[in-house]
Amino acid sequence: MRRLAALLVVATLVVAGWIAWRLQDRPALDDRPRLASSTAAGPEVAVRFLGVTSLIIDDGTTTLVVDGFVSRPPLWRTIVGRIAPDPDVVAWALDRVGLVRADAVFTVHSHYDHAMDAPLVAARTGALLVGSSSTANIARGLRLPERQIRVVVPGEPMRFGAFEVVLLESQHFPHGMAMGEVAEPLVPPARATAWREGGSYSILVRHELGTLLVQGSAGWKDGALAGRQADVALLGVAGLGTRDASYTDRYLREVVDAVGAALVIPIHWDDFTRPLREPLVAMPRLLDDVTTPLDRITAHLTARGKRLAFLPAFERIRLLPPP
Ligand SMILES: [Zn+2]
Repeated sequence: MRRLAALLVVATLVVAGWIAWRLQDRPALDDRPRLASSTAAGPEVAVRFLGVTSLIIDDGTTTLVVDGFVSRPPLWRTIVGRIAPDPDVVAWALDRVGLVRADAVFTVHSHYDHAMDAPLVAARTGALLVGSSSTANIARGLRLPERQIRVVVPGEPMRFGAFEVVLLESQHFPHGMAMGEVAEPLVPPARATAWREGGSYSILVRHELGTLLVQGSAGWKDGALAGRQADVALLGVAGLGTRDASYTDRYLREVVDAVGAALVIPIHWDDFTRPLREPLVAMPRLLDDVTTPLDRITAHLTARGKRLAFLPAFERIRLLPPP
């Protein structure tokens, strides 16, 4: 009996060691094309990338934020503990990019890695928070004033300065975790699964200089983007490494090809359980190897005379007119 117990302990340690070792193995993405900081003098729409699908988009006058998730609690806490926005990290991140005032914050959906910090970003910048009724309940749980909360009407254009923004109903990547609605105000700390998906959106950001598409989750609704146009697609790739090539091909057809984007920028490729103060790194291969889908997306684009490029974190990069 004692020998069996010892054997079990050794086996557990070996498995735990193997997992810990495999979690260190991440694809290096440093050799992939990367856009350079904006130096243009003329009118432009620029974006700053803060990891996952957090983006700050501005034309020099009006500032729009997508998600604004920067707290990035560690993996163990998201699995076994309770999580909450970290106001110090939010303050640090916004200071780092000099974001004082914003006009609107949009959430791609209401999972914690998108919507958890959005109410804090709206509170600090005076922005209107726009998202699903689930996002609205996340905001209410953090006492964001009702006048700063707007539940989106899919397909209805919203104007902010020279921008026109439309959120279209889409589908989340089909992993099936924490789906459903946040039906009442969500007061953190809470389990990570309390931030339910609440509906996913494609976000079209139109400007006289061109159009951006933000597709936060690697899912789609058949035909939802037919007849829409965008010059640049900011494309969520999380999860693609766990699916076969035909899934990536359909995703590209329904999202990138549908809008005719000539430039694709991968987003949601980084390990969002690591702090933003450290350099962004890809997810461990064990969980989601992004290499194969990235190669496939690159080949798809190259064959059509289009291209893929990454955004360096924090830097202000011109996206419109397309670089
Ligand atoms: Zn999600």
